[in-house]
Amino acid sequence: MSLRLYNTLTRRVDPFEPLAPPRVTLYTCGPTVWNFAHIGNFRTFLFEDLLRRYLEYSGYDVFQIMNLTDVDDRTIQAAAKAGVVLTKHTEPFTQAFFEDRDYLRIKPAHVYTRATAYIGPMVELVQQLLDCRIAYRSEDGSVYYAVGKFDTYGRLSQLDKRELKAGARVASDEYAKDNVQDFALWKAAVPEDEKVGAAWDTPFGRGRPGWHLECSAMALTEIRSRFGIETLDIHAGGVDLIFPHHENEIAQSEGATGRTFARHWMHGEFLTVEGTKMSKRFGNFLTARDLREEGLDPAAFRRLVFLTHYRQQLSFSDAGLRAAQGSVTRLGEFRDRLVLAARTAKADLSAGNELETQFRAAMDDDLNAPEAMAAVFSFVTNVNRELDAGAGPEKAAGWLKVFDRTMDVLDVTPRKAAVAADLAAWVAERIAARQQARKAGDYAAADAIRGEIAARGIELEDTPAGPRWKKRDA
Ligand SMILES: [Zn+2]
Repeated sequence: MSLRLYNTLTRRVDPFEPLAPPRVTLYTCGPTVWNFAHIGNFRTFLFEDLLRRYLEYSGYDVFQIMNLTDVDDRTIQAAAKAGVVLTKHTEPFTQAFFEDRDYLRIKPAHVYTRATAYIGPMVELVQQLLDCRIAYRSEDGSVYYAVGKFDTYGRLSQLDKRELKAGARVASDEYAKDNVQDFALWKAAVPEDEKVGAAWDTPFGRGRPGWHLECSAMALTEIRSRFGIETLDIHAGGVDLIFPHHENEIAQSEGATGRTFARHWMHGEFLTVEGTKMSKRFGNFLTARDLREEGLDPAAFRRLVFLTHYRQQLSFSDAGLRAAQGSVTRLGEFRDRLVLAARTAKADLSAGNELETQFRAAMDDDLNAPEAMAAVFSFVTNVNRELDAGAGPEKAAGWLKVFDRTMDVLDVTPRKAAVAADLAAWVAERIAARQQARKAGDYAAADAIRGEIAARGIELEDTPAGPRWKKRDA
């Protein structure tokens, strides 16, 4: 079986076929850097991390682009409120986002595009849409996209035009538009924009880009210049971006290029707290740095997130987090045991085939991480049983290899408890010496060795199946 992914565009789980394999171009809508990203935002970024890592595991050569929205209504308002220019306000939050990303072990995108660095391509895109009369200038000096000129508008969100009209939010200041559904590509500068340095001169007037425009321009610029293409393999984001953000991205990009903008659209569900979507607006948000300050193991948060399929709402709770912590501790101890048992043996590559098969089957089925995780835990149980029964180091080395490969994707072992291979080899040697001393009746020597091992932060436990050890938590 090969990889199948749910596509919001078709509302089906479709076989995944990139444009030019093994390359996969992946665009993921990034944070708006007006404030700290909350863990609901990070749930989306973790789903994208899982996608990226599994594509790589499957042999694809992924190129990931993530944008940083550093100019929009919220960033401008926040900068004005703080009394600083835009970049001065957004830069610390951009750095904070990178720190939080690293803490949660999210692989960095290959390129982070800051919206303010792509004003030129945005202006070109607006001009192009004006030239082909899909866009128009209004009396208020802004440029709008004429939704009625794009036949397939509403296809991604599956709203037909009548529904759109009925459901459209009509703000009192939107009289300048020809049609209530039309959206701003370029917003005429207002005093607040000027105050924070968020206004640029263009042939169609002084102003700033609309949020939707930013993603189209940045995505197209990057894939054109790097790969000479105008179609992304995958475009991903949270479900709240389907409409209007992604719908508008399609309209802008395809309106200009005449080509499919993204072949595959993927959307991650919300994270909820007591049934309510986490958001800054509701005041129920928790940031990644809150978790870090509490000393939470990022592996536990990853485990909690991957325990729910990305297309289902994730209910966040402290109890869930505690349970996840217990699970990842168990995985860390299991890995330490494998390292010890494998010593420096050559891996028996047939060991662990079952895990590999089950893991792939689950992940190929629209990234079914909860099932993949279940496969890992039944593997842990089975392998522990075999180790208890005296399985040899070659097998242990084979199991370790397969286990680590699954962890390259899930990354849910506690890093601080992980034991370096040389330490493991040393512990194995010392345990053997201790066993020898005990056999010879030299209990003083055996106790001395135990003390030596303890001094390196290792806890030793004598079990009926022989001595077991683990690294004490730092
Ligand atoms: Zn976007």
